[in-house]
Amino acid sequence: MSKLVIVGTVAFDAIETPFGKTDKILGGAATYIGLSASNFNVDAAAVSVVGGDFPQEYLNLLKDRGINISGIEIVKEGKTFFWSGKYHNDMNSRDTLATELNVLEHFNPVVPEDYKDAEIVMLGNLHPLVQQGVLDQMNNKPKLAILDTMNFWMDIALSDLLNVIKNVDVITINDEEARQLTGEYSLVVAAQKIHEMGPKYVVIKKGEHGALLFHDDNVFYAPALPLKEVFDPTGAGDTFAGGFAGYLAKTGDISFENMKNAVIYGSTLASFCVEKFGTERMVNLKDNEVHKRLQQFKDLTQFEIVLE
Ligand code: AMP
Repeated sequence: MSKLVIVGTVAFDAIETPFGKTDKILGGAATYIGLSASNFNVDAAAVSVVGGDFPQEYLNLLKDRGINISGIEIVKEGKTFFWSGKYHNDMNSRDTLATELNVLEHFNPVVPEDYKDAEIVMLGNLHPLVQQGVLDQMNNKPKLAILDTMNFWMDIALSDLLNVIKNVDVITINDEEARQLTGEYSLVVAAQKIHEMGPKYVVIKKGEHGALLFHDDNVFYAPALPLKEVFDPTGAGDTFAGGFAGYLAKTGDISFENMKNAVIYGSTLASFCVEKFGTERMVNLKDNEVHKRLQQFKDLTQFEIVLE
Protein backbone atom coordinates (compact mmCIF):
# COMPACT_ATOMS: atom_id res chain seq x y z
CA MET A 1 0.00 0.00 0.00
CA SER A 2 1.23 3.51 -0.84
CA LYS A 3 0.73 6.66 1.22
CA LEU A 4 -1.46 9.31 -0.35
CA VAL A 5 -1.38 13.09 -0.02
CA ILE A 6 -4.58 14.87 -1.05
CA VAL A 7 -4.67 18.60 -1.75
CA GLY A 8 -7.74 20.63 -2.60
CA THR A 9 -10.39 22.95 -1.30
CA VAL A 10 -12.45 22.20 1.79
CA ALA A 11 -15.44 24.39 1.25
CA PHE A 12 -18.94 25.60 1.77
CA ASP A 13 -21.08 25.02 -1.33
CA ALA A 14 -24.52 26.35 -2.22
CA ILE A 15 -26.02 24.26 -5.01
CA GLU A 16 -29.05 24.61 -7.22
CA THR A 17 -30.27 21.79 -9.47
CA PRO A 18 -33.63 21.21 -11.17
CA PHE A 19 -34.46 19.08 -8.09
CA GLY A 20 -33.79 21.60 -5.38
CA LYS A 21 -31.52 24.07 -3.73
CA THR A 22 -29.22 23.95 -0.72
CA ASP A 23 -27.90 26.56 1.68
CA LYS A 24 -24.21 26.39 2.55
CA ILE A 25 -23.31 22.73 2.85
CA LEU A 26 -20.05 20.83 3.12
CA GLY A 27 -18.13 20.69 -0.17
CA GLY A 28 -14.72 21.16 -1.69
CA ALA A 29 -12.43 19.14 -3.90
CA ALA A 30 -10.34 17.67 -1.05
CA THR A 31 -13.50 16.71 0.83
CA TYR A 32 -14.87 14.68 -2.07
CA ILE A 33 -11.47 13.22 -2.95
CA GLY A 34 -10.86 12.23 0.68
CA LEU A 35 -14.28 10.64 1.16
CA SER A 36 -13.86 8.71 -2.05
CA ALA A 37 -10.27 7.55 -1.37
CA SER A 38 -11.30 6.47 2.14
CA ASN A 39 -13.14 3.53 0.56
CA PHE A 40 -9.73 1.91 0.05
CA ASN A 41 -8.58 2.28 3.69
CA VAL A 42 -5.39 3.91 2.49
CA ASP A 43 -3.01 5.94 4.64
CA ALA A 44 -4.02 9.39 3.39
CA ALA A 45 -3.61 12.97 4.56
CA ALA A 46 -5.53 16.03 3.38
CA VAL A 47 -3.79 19.39 2.94
CA SER A 48 -6.11 22.38 2.84
CA VAL A 49 -7.34 25.44 4.70
CA VAL A 50 -10.64 26.53 6.28
CA GLY A 51 -11.82 29.55 8.25
CA GLY A 52 -12.99 29.86 11.84
CA ASP A 53 -16.56 29.57 10.52
CA PHE A 54 -16.02 25.93 9.51
CA PRO A 55 -17.76 23.42 11.81
CA GLN A 56 -15.50 20.89 13.54
CA GLU A 57 -18.11 18.20 12.82
CA TYR A 58 -17.36 18.57 9.09
CA LEU A 59 -13.66 18.01 9.70
CA ASN A 60 -14.56 15.03 11.85
CA LEU A 61 -16.35 13.45 8.90
CA LEU A 62 -13.02 13.13 7.13
CA LYS A 63 -11.21 12.07 10.30
CA ASP A 64 -13.80 9.39 11.03
CA ARG A 65 -13.20 7.98 7.56
CA GLY A 66 -9.52 7.57 8.42
CA ILE A 67 -8.14 10.67 6.67
CA ASN A 68 -5.35 12.48 8.52
CA ILE A 69 -6.48 16.11 8.84
CA SER A 70 -3.42 17.59 10.55
CA GLY A 71 -2.56 19.32 7.24
CA ILE A 72 -5.88 21.22 7.19
CA GLU A 73 -5.05 24.66 8.55
CA ILE A 74 -7.74 26.55 10.45
CA VAL A 75 -7.48 30.33 10.09
CA LYS A 76 -9.60 31.43 13.06
CA GLU A 77 -10.23 34.98 11.88
CA GLY A 78 -10.79 33.95 8.24
CA LYS A 79 -13.74 32.76 6.16
CA THR A 80 -13.89 29.37 4.43
CA PHE A 81 -13.72 29.11 0.61
CA PHE A 82 -17.25 29.39 -0.80
CA TRP A 83 -18.55 28.17 -4.14
CA SER A 84 -22.04 28.33 -5.55
CA GLY A 85 -23.28 26.73 -8.75
CA LYS A 86 -26.47 26.15 -10.71
CA TYR A 87 -27.00 23.15 -12.96
CA HIS A 88 -28.85 23.27 -16.26
CA ASN A 89 -31.68 20.86 -17.00
CA ASP A 90 -29.36 18.33 -18.67
CA MET A 91 -27.38 18.19 -15.36
CA ASN A 92 -24.19 17.86 -17.41
CA SER A 93 -23.40 21.57 -17.50
CA ARG A 94 -23.50 24.23 -14.83
CA ASP A 95 -22.91 27.91 -14.22
CA THR A 96 -20.70 29.04 -11.39
CA LEU A 97 -22.62 31.75 -9.53
CA ALA A 98 -19.94 32.62 -6.97
CA THR A 99 -16.36 31.72 -6.10
CA GLU A 100 -15.13 33.40 -2.92
CA LEU A 101 -11.52 32.41 -2.29
CA ASN A 102 -11.41 33.85 1.26
CA VAL A 103 -8.75 31.95 3.28
CA LEU A 104 -7.47 30.33 0.09
CA GLU A 105 -6.14 33.69 -1.06
CA HIS A 106 -3.13 33.63 1.29
CA PHE A 107 -2.77 29.92 1.83
CA ASN A 108 0.68 28.36 2.23
CA PRO A 109 0.17 24.61 2.32
CA VAL A 110 2.12 22.52 4.82
CA VAL A 111 2.48 18.80 4.13
CA PRO A 112 2.56 16.88 7.45
CA GLU A 113 6.11 15.56 8.11
CA ASP A 114 4.97 11.90 8.07
CA TYR A 115 3.52 12.29 4.60
CA LYS A 116 6.45 13.97 2.85
CA ASP A 117 7.52 10.53 1.65
CA ALA A 118 4.09 9.65 0.17
CA GLU A 119 4.34 7.77 -3.10
CA ILE A 120 1.13 9.19 -4.55
CA VAL A 121 0.10 12.85 -4.54
CA MET A 122 -3.38 13.85 -5.63
CA LEU A 123 -3.32 17.55 -6.45
CA GLY A 124 -7.02 18.37 -6.34
CA ASN A 125 -8.59 21.53 -7.57
CA LEU A 126 -7.22 24.76 -6.09
CA HIS A 127 -4.67 27.43 -6.98
CA PRO A 128 -1.88 25.92 -9.14
CA LEU A 129 0.77 27.64 -6.99
CA VAL A 130 -0.56 25.76 -3.97
CA GLN A 131 -0.50 22.52 -5.98
CA GLN A 132 3.14 23.20 -6.95
CA GLY A 133 3.94 24.21 -3.34
CA VAL A 134 2.87 20.76 -2.18
CA LEU A 135 4.94 18.98 -4.82
CA ASP A 136 7.96 21.07 -3.78
CA GLN A 137 7.64 19.90 -0.16
CA MET A 138 7.83 16.20 -0.94
CA ASN A 139 11.14 14.57 0.03
CA ASN A 140 11.45 12.88 -3.35
CA LYS A 141 9.62 13.08 -6.60
CA PRO A 142 6.47 11.01 -5.88
CA LYS A 143 5.94 7.76 -7.76
CA LEU A 144 2.79 9.29 -9.20
CA ALA A 145 1.53 12.87 -9.16
CA ILE A 146 -2.05 13.35 -10.35
CA LEU A 147 -3.54 16.77 -11.02
CA ASP A 148 -7.12 17.92 -11.30
CA THR A 149 -8.11 21.48 -12.13
CA MET A 150 -10.92 23.55 -13.61
CA ASN A 151 -11.66 26.43 -15.97
CA PHE A 152 -11.55 28.98 -13.11
CA TRP A 153 -7.76 28.50 -12.76
CA MET A 154 -7.26 28.49 -16.53
CA ASP A 155 -8.96 31.88 -16.60
CA ILE A 156 -7.01 33.52 -13.79
CA ALA A 157 -3.69 31.63 -13.40
CA LEU A 158 -2.92 29.92 -16.71
CA SER A 159 0.87 30.23 -16.65
CA ASP A 160 1.10 28.90 -13.06
CA LEU A 161 -1.18 26.07 -14.11
CA LEU A 162 0.94 25.20 -17.14
CA ASN A 163 4.01 25.13 -14.88
CA VAL A 164 2.52 22.60 -12.48
CA ILE A 165 1.01 20.53 -15.32
CA LYS A 166 4.59 20.06 -16.58
CA ASN A 167 5.48 18.32 -13.33
CA VAL A 168 2.70 15.74 -13.03
CA ASP A 169 2.25 12.25 -14.44
CA VAL A 170 -1.54 12.18 -14.74
CA ILE A 171 -4.11 14.89 -15.35
CA THR A 172 -7.83 14.41 -14.79
CA ILE A 173 -9.90 17.06 -16.48
CA ASN A 174 -13.39 17.33 -17.94
CA ASP A 175 -14.09 17.56 -21.66
CA GLU A 176 -14.93 21.28 -21.69
CA GLU A 177 -11.79 22.07 -19.72
CA ALA A 178 -9.61 19.93 -22.01
CA ARG A 179 -10.98 21.92 -24.95
CA GLN A 180 -10.36 25.23 -23.18
CA LEU A 181 -6.81 24.23 -22.20
CA THR A 182 -5.79 23.16 -25.69
CA GLY A 183 -8.09 25.07 -28.04
CA GLU A 184 -8.93 21.72 -29.70
CA TYR A 185 -12.44 20.37 -30.13
CA SER A 186 -11.41 16.75 -30.73
CA LEU A 187 -10.69 15.14 -27.38
CA VAL A 188 -8.15 12.83 -29.02
CA VAL A 189 -6.18 15.80 -30.32
CA ALA A 190 -6.67 17.63 -27.01
CA ALA A 191 -5.24 14.62 -25.12
CA GLN A 192 -2.21 14.59 -27.47
CA LYS A 193 -1.62 18.28 -26.82
CA ILE A 194 -1.90 17.74 -23.06
CA HIS A 195 0.62 14.87 -23.31
CA GLU A 196 2.98 17.39 -24.90
CA MET A 197 2.49 19.70 -21.89
CA GLY A 198 3.90 17.01 -19.58
CA PRO A 199 1.47 14.36 -18.27
CA LYS A 200 2.05 10.85 -19.63
CA TYR A 201 -1.52 9.89 -18.76
CA VAL A 202 -4.56 12.01 -19.55
CA VAL A 203 -8.00 11.24 -18.16
CA ILE A 204 -10.86 13.16 -19.76
CA LYS A 205 -14.12 13.02 -17.79
CA LYS A 206 -17.30 13.34 -19.80
CA GLY A 207 -19.92 13.44 -17.05
CA GLU A 208 -22.79 11.08 -17.80
CA HIS A 209 -20.88 9.93 -20.89
CA GLY A 210 -18.06 8.31 -18.94
CA ALA A 211 -14.31 8.82 -18.98
CA LEU A 212 -11.39 8.32 -21.37
CA LEU A 213 -7.85 7.35 -20.35
CA PHE A 214 -5.07 8.17 -22.83
CA HIS A 215 -1.46 6.98 -22.71
CA ASP A 216 0.64 7.45 -25.85
CA ASP A 217 -1.41 5.77 -28.57
CA ASN A 218 -3.48 3.68 -26.14
CA VAL A 219 -7.00 4.68 -25.22
CA PHE A 220 -9.35 3.13 -22.67
CA TYR A 221 -12.98 4.11 -22.29
CA ALA A 222 -15.32 3.53 -19.37
CA PRO A 223 -18.97 4.56 -19.63
CA ALA A 224 -20.76 6.11 -16.69
CA LEU A 225 -23.25 3.80 -15.05
CA PRO A 226 -26.73 4.68 -16.35
CA LEU A 227 -28.63 5.88 -13.27
CA LYS A 228 -32.35 6.31 -12.70
CA GLU A 229 -31.87 9.45 -10.67
CA VAL A 230 -29.18 12.11 -10.65
CA PHE A 231 -29.84 14.72 -7.98
CA ASP A 232 -26.62 16.67 -7.83
CA PRO A 233 -23.46 16.16 -9.92
CA THR A 234 -21.36 18.37 -7.62
CA GLY A 235 -18.18 16.62 -6.62
CA ALA A 236 -18.52 13.81 -9.16
CA GLY A 237 -15.21 14.77 -10.81
CA ASP A 238 -13.41 14.92 -7.47
CA THR A 239 -14.98 11.67 -6.35
CA PHE A 240 -13.74 10.11 -9.57
CA ALA A 241 -10.24 11.44 -8.87
CA GLY A 242 -10.36 10.18 -5.26
CA GLY A 243 -11.39 6.72 -6.40
CA PHE A 244 -8.72 6.69 -9.10
CA ALA A 245 -5.95 7.81 -6.71
CA GLY A 246 -7.22 5.68 -3.80
CA TYR A 247 -7.24 2.51 -5.88
CA LEU A 248 -3.73 3.17 -7.21
CA ALA A 249 -2.50 3.89 -3.67
CA LYS A 250 -4.04 0.67 -2.39
CA THR A 251 -2.61 -1.51 -5.13
CA GLY A 252 0.71 0.34 -5.56
CA ASP A 253 0.63 -0.58 -9.23
CA ILE A 254 0.75 2.40 -11.61
CA SER A 255 0.78 0.51 -14.91
CA PHE A 256 -1.63 1.51 -17.70
CA GLU A 257 -3.46 -1.83 -17.23
CA ASN A 258 -4.06 -1.11 -13.55
CA MET A 259 -5.07 2.47 -14.31
CA LYS A 260 -7.96 1.02 -16.32
CA ASN A 261 -9.27 -0.53 -13.11
CA ALA A 262 -8.65 2.76 -11.32
CA VAL A 263 -10.89 4.48 -13.91
CA ILE A 264 -13.61 1.89 -13.23
CA TYR A 265 -13.35 2.46 -9.46
CA GLY A 266 -13.43 6.22 -10.00
CA SER A 267 -16.53 5.95 -12.19
CA THR A 268 -18.24 3.60 -9.76
CA LEU A 269 -17.69 5.88 -6.78
CA ALA A 270 -18.76 8.95 -8.77
CA SER A 271 -22.01 7.17 -9.62
CA PHE A 272 -22.90 7.20 -5.91
CA CYS A 273 -21.88 10.80 -5.36
CA VAL A 274 -24.53 12.17 -7.74
CA GLU A 275 -27.43 10.32 -6.10
CA LYS A 276 -27.85 12.79 -3.23
CA PHE A 277 -27.06 16.43 -2.61
CA GLY A 278 -23.48 17.30 -1.64
CA THR A 279 -21.49 14.69 0.27
CA GLU A 280 -24.52 12.94 1.79
CA ARG A 281 -24.27 9.75 -0.24
CA MET A 282 -20.49 9.44 0.09
CA VAL A 283 -20.49 9.85 3.85
CA ASN A 284 -22.68 6.79 4.35
CA LEU A 285 -21.36 4.59 1.58
CA LYS A 286 -20.82 0.93 2.49
CA ASP A 287 -18.32 -1.55 1.03
CA ASN A 288 -21.03 -3.99 -0.07
CA GLU A 289 -22.78 -1.24 -2.05
CA VAL A 290 -19.55 -0.48 -3.90
CA HIS A 291 -18.98 -4.15 -4.56
CA LYS A 292 -22.48 -4.61 -5.97
CA ARG A 293 -22.11 -1.64 -8.26
CA LEU A 294 -18.73 -2.82 -9.55
CA GLN A 295 -20.50 -6.02 -10.57
CA GLN A 296 -23.16 -3.96 -12.38
CA PHE A 297 -20.36 -2.12 -14.13
CA LYS A 298 -18.82 -5.37 -15.24
CA ASP A 299 -22.16 -6.64 -16.53
CA LEU A 300 -22.73 -3.36 -18.36
CA THR A 301 -19.44 -3.41 -20.22
CA GLN A 302 -18.63 -7.07 -20.77
CA PHE A 303 -19.35 -8.77 -24.05
CA GLU A 304 -18.00 -11.70 -25.97
CA ILE A 305 -17.51 -11.32 -29.68
CA VAL A 306 -15.82 -14.08 -31.56
CA LEU A 307 -13.59 -12.48 -34.16
CA GLU A 308 -12.93 -14.69 -37.15
P1 AMP B 1 -16.66 19.00 -9.24
O1 AMP B 1 -18.16 18.95 -9.32
O2 AMP B 1 -16.03 17.65 -9.13
O3 AMP B 1 -16.06 19.84 -10.31
O4 AMP B 1 -16.28 19.71 -7.87
C1 AMP B 1 -17.11 20.57 -7.18
C2 AMP B 1 -16.38 21.04 -5.94
O5 AMP B 1 -15.29 21.87 -6.34
C3 AMP B 1 -17.27 21.87 -5.05
O6 AMP B 1 -17.45 21.20 -3.83
C4 AMP B 1 -16.54 23.20 -4.87
O7 AMP B 1 -16.40 23.59 -3.54
C5 AMP B 1 -15.17 22.96 -5.48
N1 AMP B 1 -14.74 24.09 -6.30
C6 AMP B 1 -15.50 24.88 -7.10
N2 AMP B 1 -14.75 25.82 -7.70
C7 AMP B 1 -13.48 25.61 -7.28
C8 AMP B 1 -12.23 26.24 -7.56
N3 AMP B 1 -12.12 27.29 -8.38
N4 AMP B 1 -11.13 25.74 -6.96
C9 AMP B 1 -11.22 24.69 -6.14
N5 AMP B 1 -12.35 24.05 -5.83
C10 AMP B 1 -13.47 24.51 -6.39
